Amino acid sequence: MQFSDFSLDKRLLDSLKHMGITTPTEIQEQALPIALAGKDLMASSKTGSGKTLAFLLPAMQRIISTRALSKKDPRVLILLPTRELAQQVYGQLRLLVANTQYKAMSVLGGENFNDQAKGLAREPHFIVATPGRIADHLQQRHLFLNGLELLILDEADRMLDLGFAPQLKAINDAADHKRRQTLMFSATLDHQSINDIATTLLNNPSHVAIGASYAEHKDIEQKMLFADHLDHKQALLSHLLKQPENKQTIVFTATRADTERLASLLAEQGFSTSALSGELKQSARNQIMDQFSRGQQQILVTTDVASRGLDLINVSLVVNFDMPKFAEEYVHRIGRTGRAGAKGVAVSLVGPKDWQSFLQVQSFLRKNFEFSAIDGLPAKFSGLTKQASTKAVNAKPKAKSATAAKAKQKPKAAPKRDKRFITGVDVGDAPMRRKAKPLPIIEQDNKDSED
Ligand code: AMP
Repeated sequence: MQFSDFSLDKRLLDSLKHMGITTPTEIQEQALPIALAGKDLMASSKTGSGKTLAFLLPAMQRIISTRALSKKDPRVLILLPTRELAQQVYGQLRLLVANTQYKAMSVLGGENFNDQAKGLAREPHFIVATPGRIADHLQQRHLFLNGLELLILDEADRMLDLGFAPQLKAINDAADHKRRQTLMFSATLDHQSINDIATTLLNNPSHVAIGASYAEHKDIEQKMLFADHLDHKQALLSHLLKQPENKQTIVFTATRADTERLASLLAEQGFSTSALSGELKQSARNQIMDQFSRGQQQILVTTDVASRGLDLINVSLVVNFDMPKFAEEYVHRIGRTGRAGAKGVAVSLVGPKDWQSFLQVQSFLRKNFEFSAIDGLPAKFSGLTKQASTKAVNAKPKAKSATAAKAKQKPKAAPKRDKRFITGVDVGDAPMRRKAKPLPIIEQDNKDSED
């Protein structure tokens, strides 16, 4: 099947041709007919499967081929959990709108609120946004969604994990009319919370599930290494980074503080490294991602803020310096390599404190991992029995070195899935708490806001 087999506007086919894209991926093949027919869709698809175009193409087609319900209101709103993902989708959308008369705008947390209000007043047809900031603009009446024709939620499970359910409901209420179409993409469709929000947002949706989230990703070689303690992990990491076949590497740590510490250590060892965390100002985050995607840095050390969807073609190695708290996050992290048919390696360093998470990943992936070892860097640790593993989770860590002592100063709270602020996860885009103020727009201090 080719894209030309779908009833897509010639300008869209030309843009695809320009991007070198001719044959639809599986999710595109299945989602396009449903979305193009104007039906609601609930879809899950593996990371890197081409799902962005699976919703952007029908969105473009709908706008090109139908009359607007309202002259002023945005016609398509695309919501994503993090600013980086939103920027990536916005980048692809811009390539598609470039060929047309339609206007697109991104509305992200961390950017100037008043500038955004002015941008919204210019009546863009497409908005790509993080939900907290859109909810703020709705509240301030900078934006109305009565004429919204298509609402798209990408990584919906992640938005719910980050506590955005109230904002999603507010957005839904603002665009509550019969002619609205809704497309929802989520890593998994079998969470209770996903089904609950789907009942509110979607109208008799079709379901598409391509490749279960636990399915093997054939282009990613997954390796597990035992690690005894922080210094041992650092030695293993240095060894991995020195391998000549490496192009670019993303290293995932548990906390923001760890990203900084590890990035400085790697920089001291001569690796060109940057640290990305949600604490940074948006402009700094953009600069870091931009430099990394252009290959100016070899290593990006980050938390789960970069675990989803980011499309970085030259990443040949992903290292889980710390195992993620939630097994789905493992799938997203390793999916930063092996993109679009390229081969990648994902190495996880598993110490006593990672053991529980490792077991969860195994059971989530329905796979039994063999552990590898690196010559000259053997581990004494070789897994925990059930009893010992409970103790390890509850025990206070013993500081064995200066660096380990530093790590000790930041004890990690037990993960709670339903809270907005999840330990070790860079929340990045939580909504601001701003009181409703009437127009005209007045100066607001949102320089460091994280919505
Ligand atoms: P996504 O899963 O949307 O992040 O897409 C992953 C990568 O696959 C992006 O670089 C897309 O440009 C690329 N891509 C999307 N659809 C196709 C396709 N039909 N053929 C080849 N590459 C594609």
